[in-house]
Amino acid sequence: MVLAARTDDGEEHPAHAVLAAIGAAPRTALAETSGLALVDREHGGGIAVDASLRTSDPDVFAVGDVAAAQHPGLGTRVRVEHWANALNGGPAAARAMLGQEVSYERVPYFFSDQYDVGLEYSGYAPAGSYDQVLVRGDVGKREFIAFWLSDGRVLAGMNVNVWDVTEHIQDLIRSKAPVDREKLADPSVPLDSLLPAQGA
Ligand SMILES: Cc1cc2nc3c(=O)[nH]c(=O)nc-3n(C[C@H](O)[C@H](O)[C@H](O)COP(=O)(O)OP(=O)(O)OC[C@H]3O[C@@H](n4cnc5c(N)ncnc54)[C@H](O)[C@@H]3O)c2cc1C
Repeated sequence: MVLAARTDDGEEHPAHAVLAAIGAAPRTALAETSGLALVDREHGGGIAVDASLRTSDPDVFAVGDVAAAQHPGLGTRVRVEHWANALNGGPAAARAMLGQEVSYERVPYFFSDQYDVGLEYSGYAPAGSYDQVLVRGDVGKREFIAFWLSDGRVLAGMNVNVWDVTEHIQDLIRSKAPVDREKLADPSVPLDSLLPAQGA
């Protein structure tokens, strides 16, 4: 029976149940023995691939959870452990294998449904990359969008029980333009009206 969880700082947190989230590690043994370049664990691990999902061997490609891809839009290497990335990476790698020009730069995305809470998350906002989390909507009612911002630019957005907004959230992320925070926080202001004008 669990009574409490004690954290490293000595504090005790009463609990009836404890969920231990121990993480996951990419299975890279085959790639390693094949001599493919890997990314070290401190930098997220995985098989290093370029923006066309090609490994250090030009005839070998890697996609999905195991692939640490150079992301042109984010300007960094990312390893995305989510279903949509595994789904979309395969066709992109196939196009590259066929000799087409491929720059795989989808905004990282996942969805999850937990009982009466459905959510989608778009973007990339690791710890230290953002300076504000701004909420639009009602957290108490479980209907809101949370935005991770850096210098007023949207790095990531998570819509919770709010639908048909992913495209606009991803457009805001891709635009890299500063947004009006007051309007962003106001659910009555359409998200697409916050995008910079085309050609501006
Ligand atoms: C508990 C859980 C909940 C999740 N929930 C969500 C969610 O809500 N939303 C979401 O977007 N994503 C979710 N995910 C993540 C999602 O399932 C993964 O991102 C996705 O399945 C990755 O697909 P993949 O093909 O890259 O890898 P996998 O699905 O892991 O497939 C890799 C396959 O390769 C095989 N393999 C490995 N090494 C070798 C080898 N040497 N030789 C032969 N075969 C090998 C493995 O056995 C496996 O079958 C969840 C994952 C887990 C574990």
